Amino acid sequence: MAGEIADAVAQFFATDRYFGLSELPVPRAVLAAARRTPARANAGSAATSNAVAPTDKAGRLEVLDLEQVKGCRKCRLCEGRNNTVFGVGSAEARLVFVGEGPGFEEDRQGIPFVGKAGQLLTRMIIAMGLRRDDVYICNIVKCRPPNNRDPAADEIMACSPYLYEQLRVIEPEIIVALGSPASKTLLDTTTGISRLRGQFHDFKLRDPLGDVRTIPLMPTYHPAYLLRSPNEKVKAWKDLQMVMARLGLPLPQGG
Ligand code: SF4
Repeated sequence: MAGEIADAVAQFFATDRYFGLSELPVPRAVLAAARRTPARANAGSAATSNAVAPTDKAGRLEVLDLEQVKGCRKCRLCEGRNNTVFGVGSAEARLVFVGEGPGFEEDRQGIPFVGKAGQLLTRMIIAMGLRRDDVYICNIVKCRPPNNRDPAADEIMACSPYLYEQLRVIEPEIIVALGSPASKTLLDTTTGISRLRGQFHDFKLRDPLGDVRTIPLMPTYHPAYLLRSPNEKVKAWKDLQMVMARLGLPLPQGG
């Protein structure tokens, strides 16, 4: 595992290898694991066949996905989608990554972060000493915005209740917001990612009764941006190391 983490850290910074990710050993296994572990696959079929609502976290996520998100037509993004992209990973995760929305490959597969940016996110997670199965990965909007544009404000408003319900179920210790749209949405701010990143912020998660739970949130650069601007990886890595320290994860030597 230590060697794998060291490799992942090295590959995270190895700018000349980003676009040759298919040569690397991890993505195929990661994709296979992702297909095995979407939340709806974790819960078992009983969650939807019984009249009794599931009480376990995976089951609650499955019900939310199958009964509300899959057929959702609350905004115009439903018109061009092939699949809704609910989320993937552990319903018991201590750490949740939130991006802005599915891209081409994610829409095709129905799994978040499986394209090139997703493969870099996987490198980032492994560099932290974790696996994709250890964390939960989702987006602000569950359907692909056309031409990979940022989600519009009304689309975010329509879709974000699903995200907040996911977070209420999972109850993560820390959230990492990937990129500007996710950070601005979760922190309800117009401040850009460059000024938000590098420190924890308080994310206020309200339940239906109005009670508020505060979750530390670290904004950092979106992996798609890091692919375009590899010099910014140093800053993203510092953000992730702050997250690791807060979770009590060992920091790599010379990190
Ligand atoms: S983006 Fe969200 S709100 Fe809009 S149709 Fe898809 S699931 Fe529904």
